[in-house]
Amino acid sequence: MTTTRITIAKGDGIGPEIMDATLKILNAAGANLAYDEIDVGEKVYLSGNTSGISEEAWGIIRKNKIFLKAPITTPQGGGYKSLNVTMRKSLGLFANVRPCKSLSPFVQTKHPLMDVVIIRENEEDLYAGIEHQQTAEVVQCLKLITRPGCEKIVRYAFEYAKQNGRKKVTCFSKDNIMKQTDGLFREVFNEVAASYPSIQNEHWIVDIATAKLADTPEDFDVIVTTNLYGDIVSDVAAQIAGSVGLAGSSNIGLSCAMFEAIHGSAPDIAGKNIANPSGLLQGAVIMLNHIGQGQIASKIQNAWLKTIEDGIHTADIFNEKISKQKVGTSQFANAVIDNIGKLPRSLTPVKFSDTKEIVIPDYKRRTNIKKELVGVDIFVDCAEQNPDKVAALIQKINNESVQLSMITNRGVKVWPNGFKETFCTDHWRCRFQAKDQRTISKQAIIDLLIAAESHTIDVIKTENLYTFNGKIGYSLGQGQ
Ligand code: NAD
Repeated sequence: MTTTRITIAKGDGIGPEIMDATLKILNAAGANLAYDEIDVGEKVYLSGNTSGISEEAWGIIRKNKIFLKAPITTPQGGGYKSLNVTMRKSLGLFANVRPCKSLSPFVQTKHPLMDVVIIRENEEDLYAGIEHQQTAEVVQCLKLITRPGCEKIVRYAFEYAKQNGRKKVTCFSKDNIMKQTDGLFREVFNEVAASYPSIQNEHWIVDIATAKLADTPEDFDVIVTTNLYGDIVSDVAAQIAGSVGLAGSSNIGLSCAMFEAIHGSAPDIAGKNIANPSGLLQGAVIMLNHIGQGQIASKIQNAWLKTIEDGIHTADIFNEKISKQKVGTSQFANAVIDNIGKLPRSLTPVKFSDTKEIVIPDYKRRTNIKKELVGVDIFVDCAEQNPDKVAALIQKINNESVQLSMITNRGVKVWPNGFKETFCTDHWRCRFQAKDQRTISKQAIIDLLIAAESHTIDVIKTENLYTFNGKIGYSLGQGQ
């Protein structure tokens, strides 16, 4: 087996202790790894680098491509950027994979049969971080969902299910409300699912799905979802499986991958040799599988399961009724090492195969799509509270080819024929369409904006209204 050179970072707080414990176990199990250590996190932030990582460290991560990272502390205030978010986006780590499996009866959970893997899209959605204040009363966050982003994550979920003998992939979305963004995610899910006939597929609306997951997680197998829902759902899943302190996760890209525990740097218990190293160890087990060292991963996982089953527990999961011995970080690592080569008796032993990493086909850009401009939404800042008066002002800019067809306030239609009960802020979306419902020119939009300026209408932004192959590419107003 060839040696894989990986990058490691010991991070902050309990990071160094749990990384030392994890590396000791990896080495004792015979993992074929060589290490390059880098500094990231607090030390780097406080030296004046607001990104928390140096250029040199980036170079090492990009060269080795595999990164095992202990948790880091993001200093509060002072404009420090979250290194985790920067890593995920800069390295194109599009998939966050988090297995959540019960260790009942050795770790308390209400869900002894739970065995769920959450696959969360990691790069887009509301986490694109594009936010603007537009009026005195209104701020906006842009939710970006892309077809390549959806195709990558959904295909990854099905390939993951295939490779790991999973039976079902469930999509969580809110496409009943967000018909364009979540609608695209679900549409791509349906398209991709069709090429995996041996794997069941289903879709759930995310709110009831999360309730159902918290109640009967054993009904789910692999879950694929967008960034924000995935962030929330994966913490719910880890917690109800037993403890967020036990879970590891991977962040997978087309060329690089990062593996970590899901918990933070726990500064409250740092340096005391009481932290549980299991989360980072689980991240390392996923890493070994990812780089084709499945047999070593199985050896470590079985030794870890046996240690948990023997009741040798760190303080965070110690329970007098179940546990046999309370141990510190390094003693726990030694107990796992003593169990290498042994199998758990009650918990199901694992047998990972030396599978290769999942390969996602290159995205093929769609061509021959007829895109037609059929109108424009002009967003206006106006303190007037009566929609009819706002409409009278806005209608002054109607021209030969386009005219005002609707005004919404926070998405609700308020003109024509609005309800007086609808609360209005200072942020008005004024929809202009061609009189004959046909296409319009860009010049028509420019003419509208020039007219708005001459009537001192405060335009804050515009959104073009398109159809794609005749299909409407924008939402209607609520009540329209
Ligand atoms: P945390 O996960 O660090 O701690 C929450 C609680 O869980 C604490 O009581 C802690 O003692 C306990 N805990 C966490 N891990 C444990 C372990 N392995 N063993 C035993 N107990 C454990 O969350 P927090 O306190 O909200 O955040 C602390 C710092 O970690 C913050 O600076 C935050 O930004 C950072 N953070 C980093 C990452 C990461 O690097 N991936 C993730 C989350 C939070």
